Amino acid sequence: GERLSAADPELLEALTGELRRQQTQIELIASENIVSRAVLEAQGSVLTNKYAEGYPGRRYYGGCEYVDVAERLAIERATRLFDCAFANVQPHSGAQANQAVFMALLRPGDTILGMSLDAGGHLTHGAAPNQSGKWFKAIGYGVNQSDGCIDYDQVEALANEHRPQIIIAGGSAYSRIIDFARFRAIADSVEAYLMVDMAHFAGLVAGGVYPSPLPHAHVVTTTTHKTLRGPRGGMVLSTDADLGKKINSAVFPGLQGGPLMHVIAAKAVAFGEALKPEFRAYARAVVDNAKALAATLEERGLAIVSGGTDSHLMLVDLRPKGLKGRDTEIALERAGITCNKNGVPFDPEKPAVTSGIRLGTPAGTTRGFGVAEFRQVGALIGDVMDALARNPEGDAQVEQAVRGRVEELCRRFPIYPDLG
Ligand code: PLP
Repeated sequence: GERLSAADPELLEALTGELRRQQTQIELIASENIVSRAVLEAQGSVLTNKYAEGYPGRRYYGGCEYVDVAERLAIERATRLFDCAFANVQPHSGAQANQAVFMALLRPGDTILGMSLDAGGHLTHGAAPNQSGKWFKAIGYGVNQSDGCIDYDQVEALANEHRPQIIIAGGSAYSRIIDFARFRAIADSVEAYLMVDMAHFAGLVAGGVYPSPLPHAHVVTTTTHKTLRGPRGGMVLSTDADLGKKINSAVFPGLQGGPLMHVIAAKAVAFGEALKPEFRAYARAVVDNAKALAATLEERGLAIVSGGTDSHLMLVDLRPKGLKGRDTEIALERAGITCNKNGVPFDPEKPAVTSGIRLGTPAGTTRGFGVAEFRQVGALIGDVMDALARNPEGDAQVEQAVRGRVEELCRRFPIYPDLG
């Protein structure tokens, strides 16, 4: 058949535009990464044509012998990577992985205790507009005002008061190591399940630079596309094979129909990559780079929530410079640096404005940036912010100059050179 260039030039133009954007800007969105050509190839494969409802060896469709190989590889590699008995690699996304756990372990109306959205938790951990907030009685814990770290005493007090069926640890904007043992002790004391959503730091766990939640949690969920550097998708893990059976039934037929076999194949490829020694070096570099970026921004007069980071991300409090997250995100984008505005704990600004931005190093580290480059990136961010603090419209000259330096850095560390 026709190649995309002939079949749909209009769509191809958007694809090419996105490729150029990724090649020529610095990606600091903490939840994004840059997958390998091998992962892209598996995901863009003929496996997209295949229906495979069920699980390997137990399908509701014929012709599954090859997709069975792909899914078995993904499961086997995931359980090796995270040293656990059970993996379900079928969830279409992180949100669906979390839903599957709720479906397996809870009933509508049950009580769940998770980190509040405005403290750094995820929408699916009980936020009001999300299904998790509508169908369950959702209680939220937060961080200490003093140090920005999880308020474990509050978690314990809320657990005692509300007796949740499940406690959720993990979030989207929390930079510190989480005390999983403490969470488990609290869960045990009220006979709740402990679920850890390691979506953000799964790659750091795989790379051995962040503690594994698996020995502590009843069940662990994750996305596969953040620090783990695989295709966009989700996964559920457990050290408990019996719980695993319930999870399998919740994913299919509970929630989903046919699994995305091309994505599962790409998950297998990514897990294979993460099992290699190079991935440990990558994970180490992600954290070293985040520490360097945070230190540089502090030197430039910005505050980092909790005073730093143990992981791949940081929350930058812009109030010392009198800036808002929204304007800063836009100014940085004009200068070729992509990030997202993010509320800081106890943020007085509305979610559409915010007092902070969230920055992460997974994508830049994949393209080869080290500490020296991230220090340079920190300096460039400082330049854009100082200019914005002087002039709320932004300083076009400074932003253009930074854009030039960004493009230089991107040329020195190219991505997807053979994609055009
Ligand atoms: N859990 C956490 C902690 C996340 O940060 C995210 C995504 O940002 C998700 C779940 C949801 O993942 P997805 O966007 O794949 O549904």
